[in-house]
Amino acid sequence: MPTTPVLSIVIPVYNEESNLPVLFQRLYPVLDGLGRSYEVIFTNDGSADRSLELLRAQFNARPDVTRVVDFNANYGQHMAIMAAFERVRGEVVVTLDADLQNPPEEIPKLLTQVEAGHDYVGGFRLNRQDSVFRTLASKLINVVRSRTTSIEMTDQGCMLRAYRRPIIDAIVRSGAINTFIPALAYSFSGNPAEVGVKHEERHAGVSNYSFYQLIRLNFDLITGFSLAPLQIFTMFAMACSAGSFLLVLVLAYYRLFLNDDTKGVFTLFGILFFLISVTMVGIGLIGEYVGRTYQVVRARQRYHVREMLETK
Ligand code: UDP
Ligand code: MG
Repeated sequence: MPTTPVLSIVIPVYNEESNLPVLFQRLYPVLDGLGRSYEVIFTNDGSADRSLELLRAQFNARPDVTRVVDFNANYGQHMAIMAAFERVRGEVVVTLDADLQNPPEEIPKLLTQVEAGHDYVGGFRLNRQDSVFRTLASKLINVVRSRTTSIEMTDQGCMLRAYRRPIIDAIVRSGAINTFIPALAYSFSGNPAEVGVKHEERHAGVSNYSFYQLIRLNFDLITGFSLAPLQIFTMFAMACSAGSFLLVLVLAYYRLFLNDDTKGVFTLFGILFFLISVTMVGIGLIGEYVGRTYQVVRARQRYHVREMLETK
């Protein structure tokens, strides 16, 4: 078995028992056909179904090219990828989803770009096959991201991507906790490129992301890469206080010089409610950053590996 393969394929797996057999069937022939040494690293992200059993069977069938990281619990897609990144041996690393939304047949397209000299090649989904809601939400967050961070990419949600090893090493060294790997990689890259890749409907099952998790993930994307939310909030709060100060002057003028105190109470209530809601948003926002700081300061291990299946 080659100890340093050219290519490492990284696949996070969470409850994908109905997709894994087809994934194995389609992925391995593509890789065998590349004529390059490779390894596939699966991370079982605390699946509750038969995923681990299937991964174990695949490891036994192709021990030369298969490695499995088995988490004790569910730590999320990006942590699953991170754990594999910490263990990859290849010079070029490709990430891909296990549900066949990213066709394995598109991998060679990315490799062509890497060979052309790019250290980071992001896929963008041609003809995206997701719900209208997901697609629209994605567009919206794309706009927010492009305005609040300096990260430029067509499709941040596409996980079919290729990285040269130094980028992976930088990601691992960063020790990031709540992160969004494509964006983190972009920030370390010197010569990024993008290619359009096919997108398929989920082969089986439903997305593992709930609405709440999607919001959390996108918070990771924005607050993890930019202080803009805090800065915009401060500017807004400053404008509000200036505005309310002016209002106070106007109300005082009415009261003191025109002896008219009829408008005062309701206007003040209005202002008060508004300012309280602004304050609450601000506290929440600060909380996001404090929470992140807390996690870093706490320095607890980010995930726990129960078992590693690999040929030494
Ligand atoms: N995934 C994971 N841990 C999670 C959620 C998802 O490892 O907590 C994996 C999942 O098995 C799949 C990939 O991440 O390989 C993308 O997940 P999914 O298809 O549910 O997301 P979507 O395509 O809907 O964004
Ligand atoms: Mg999917």
